[in-house]
Amino acid sequence: MHSSYQPEGYTGLKTLLSTDEIHAGVARLAGEIRDQYAGQSLTVVGVMSGSLVFLADLIRHIREPLRVGVIQARSYRGSATVPGPLEVRTDLLPDIRDRHVLLVDDIFDTGRTLQRLMSSLRELQPASLRAAVLLSKPARHEVETRPDFTVFEIEDVFAVGYGMDYRDAYRNLPHIAALEPEEIQAPPP
Ligand code: 5GP
Ligand code: MG
Repeated sequence: MHSSYQPEGYTGLKTLLSTDEIHAGVARLAGEIRDQYAGQSLTVVGVMSGSLVFLADLIRHIREPLRVGVIQARSYRGSATVPGPLEVRTDLLPDIRDRHVLLVDDIFDTGRTLQRLMSSLRELQPASLRAAVLLSKPARHEVETRPDFTVFEIEDVFAVGYGMDYRDAYRNLPHIAALEPEEIQAPPP
């Protein structure tokens, strides 16, 4: 007799946003984007890797022709406590000069990453540049920049799932969960 493979699953997580809520929110955002870019050709740029699931769902709600690219932001550890400089990789992008660009990220937390990515993209001289985020934590914002589109505002919790990770786990959860402080201390499953 064989034993069939049963993934252990991520159990005991507190759901923050269900798949239905997420899908309704993404569809609503797609409508706003279609209105904003009516008659213009759009390049959607996802921030690796947390935005990939969001990006995949979002672009399938937009029926007009568009181009897709990705950008990567990696922060190097400066010291044990202070985050180091952010390295931005733009070599995975198509040419965006004179194009209408929408940057798509998972979470706007302090806002420093998005602000930095927007300024890197601006150097490539797009015709226009806007940003859309799935989640935003208003209590944590530290910069003047705000995304042009925000799907959900959330409390100051650590969100995982729907592409977002904690130490590379949880990205494949179909919904979004909030990790409890003790789960953040514990090693990932
Ligand atoms: P910021 O520069 O806005 O403080 O941080 C943005 C990045 O930090 C996000 O793109 C994301 O990668 C990560 N981040 C911030 N808050 C969370 C969170 O609650 N959950 C996860 N998984 N990543 C987060
Ligand atoms: Mg990120």
